[in-house]
Amino acid sequence: MTTMDDTLRFDALEVPVLDERPWAVFAACTKTPDVSFFPQTKDEERAALGICTICPVREDCLEHAIETREHFGVWGGLTEKERKKISRLG
Ligand code: SF4
Repeated sequence: MTTMDDTLRFDALEVPVLDERPWAVFAACTKTPDVSFFPQTKDEERAALGICTICPVREDCLEHAIETREHFGVWGGLTEKERKKISRLG
């Protein structure tokens, strides 16, 4: 069962995401409220990337981030800079 917290934690704008991103229900970041996915330091970035490595929906998340050109934060196990590189190659 999904709680409102699950949907809100994932989206920085606090907009329910289930219609657009049904996979977000399984997002590992919804279970780690102490980890920021919009990191301000390298330590915070490493913590977020570590959570992504065990996330069952990492590919869906990355695909979404690239398709929607998410400019900020860690998505799909990649930083902003890493996603920009992939986008330029594609
Ligand atoms: S890949 Fe990372 S940012 Fe994306 S849903 Fe999973 S834990 Fe969250």
